[in-house]
Amino acid sequence: MTAAQISAIVGEVMAKMQIGSDVSGMHGVFTDMNEAIAKAKEAQKVVRVMSLDQREKVIANIRQKIKDNAETFARMGVSETGMGNVGDKILKHILVAEKTPGTEDIKTTAWSGDRGLTLIEMGPFGVIGAITPTTNPSETILCNTIGMFAAGNTVAFNPHPQAIKTSIYAINLLNEASLEAGGPDNIAVTVEKPTLDTSNVIMSHKDIQLIAATGGPGVVTAVLSSGRRGIGAGAGNPPALVDETADIRKAAEDIVNGCTFDNNLPCIAEKEIVAVDSICDELMRYMVEEQGCYLASKEVQDALIKTVLTEKGALNRKCVGRSAKVLLGMVGVEVDDSIRCITFEGPKEHPLIAEELMMPILGVVRAKNFDDAVEQAVWLEHGNRHSAHIHSKNVDRITQYARAIDTAILVKNGPSYSALGFGGEGFCTFTIASRTGEGLTSASTFTKRRRCVMVDSLCIR
Ligand code: NAD
Repeated sequence: MTAAQISAIVGEVMAKMQIGSDVSGMHGVFTDMNEAIAKAKEAQKVVRVMSLDQREKVIANIRQKIKDNAETFARMGVSETGMGNVGDKILKHILVAEKTPGTEDIKTTAWSGDRGLTLIEMGPFGVIGAITPTTNPSETILCNTIGMFAAGNTVAFNPHPQAIKTSIYAINLLNEASLEAGGPDNIAVTVEKPTLDTSNVIMSHKDIQLIAATGGPGVVTAVLSSGRRGIGAGAGNPPALVDETADIRKAAEDIVNGCTFDNNLPCIAEKEIVAVDSICDELMRYMVEEQGCYLASKEVQDALIKTVLTEKGALNRKCVGRSAKVLLGMVGVEVDDSIRCITFEGPKEHPLIAEELMMPILGVVRAKNFDDAVEQAVWLEHGNRHSAHIHSKNVDRITQYARAIDTAILVKNGPSYSALGFGGEGFCTFTIASRTGEGLTSASTFTKRRRCVMVDSLCIR
C-alpha cells in the first residue's frame, strides 16, 4: 500500500470517527460504560471456556491484523495526538505484534509426591479495567488485550480522551480479529467519550476486580485508592549514567537513539544524562558532531523552559512528543532535519533536566566521579523505581548502580528501547508496573493463582 493510500484510509477513518458521530459499526464501542462492562462480562463467559489453542488462534489473527495496520495506526496516532513520529510508531506496532507474550506465558506449577499432586493454576480475573495513555495509545491497548485475553480475561478500557479515535480503531480491530478466528465480540470494550466519570465507573464497578493503570502519577494514585487491586504503571524520568570505562562514542549513539525514539514518548526513554567529569566533554562532542544534537545556549534553554513548561511548572502538552526541530522552531531557532535532539550541560535541578518532559531534550549533568554520578542519577529518578540506563564496562559499578537506583528496568550498554525487546532479548510490553512492582507486565500478570490439590492420588512415580 502506498503512503497516499494509507493517508486516504486514515483521513476516512478519522472523519468517520468524529466524537459524537455514529460509531455503531465499530465493535466494542458503547455510549455507556456500564453497558460496555456488561458486554465484556458476557464475552468473558465465552473466553473462559475457550481452550488455550482457540485463544491462540484469536491472538495469531490479532498479531496479523496489527502488522497489516501498523502504518495506519502510526499515522492515526500522530495525526490525532500530534505526538511522536510515524516511522517509530510503525516499529512499535510491529514489536507489539511479534513480541507480546500470548498463552505460552500461562504456566502451571506442580508438586508431585507420596501425598498426591498439587498444582498452581493461573486463572483469569474476569473483566479487567484498563486506563491508557496518550503517548502510546493503540500500542498499549493492543498489548494489554493480547496479554489479558491470553489469560482468559476480557477488558474495559478508559482511553485518554485525546487519543480516543486511535483507541477505538484498535478496539474495533481486536474484536474483528476475535470474530474472524471464532472468538466472541467484545473481548475489548470502551465508550465513545471516555471521561473521569467513566473512569470512576470502572473503578467502582462490582464486576471489575483488577485495574491496570498506565499513565502519570494522578491516574496511578486514583487507581490505587479505588479499593480494587491495581497494577500501577506510572511515570519515570530515566537517567543514563556514563562512566569513563564506557565506549564513549557508542554511548553517545545509543543514548541519542534511545532518547529520540518516537520523539522521546516511551516512559523508558533516556530523559537526561549523568556523565563523570573525565569523559563529559568527549561524550557531548560525539553527541553534537556525530549524533545530530543541537547544543542549546543559555538563552535558548531559557526560552525552551518558558515554552515547554507552564508558569506553574506543568508540561505544555503541545510540546510533548514533538521533534527537536519543531521545539527549536517554537523558540525561533531554525535547524535542518539532521538535528534530532537538543542538548546542554546543567545542574540536576535544571527544569529541563529534573522534569519528565517526553521531548528529545537531553540535558547533561556533570559528576565529580562515579559515586557522585550514582547519587545524582538516583535523585533524578525521583524514586519512581521505573527505568535507568548505564554505559560502563565495570561490572561492580553496574551492580552498585542497579542496587542504588532499584528500578524495574536497567539497560546496560544499549539504547533504552532494548528493554522492550527491540534490539535486545526478552518480550515486549507497554505497561511497566513500576509503582506496584510487577515490572514488565505480560499475560501471567493478569491472572489469579489457584491451588488445586489431589490428596494421595495421581502421583504415578
Ligand atoms: P496521563 O496521566 O495524563 O493520562 C493517562 C491516563 O490516565 C489517561 O487515560 C487519562 O485520561 C487518565 N487519567 C489521568 N488522571 C486521572 C485521574 N485522576 N483519574 C482517572 N484517570 C485519570 O498520562 P499521559 O500523558 O497520557 O501519558 C504519559 C505519562 O504516562 C508519563 O508520565 C509516562 O511516564 C507515563 N507512562 C507510563 C508507562 C508505564 O508503563 N509505566 C507507559 C506509558 C506512559
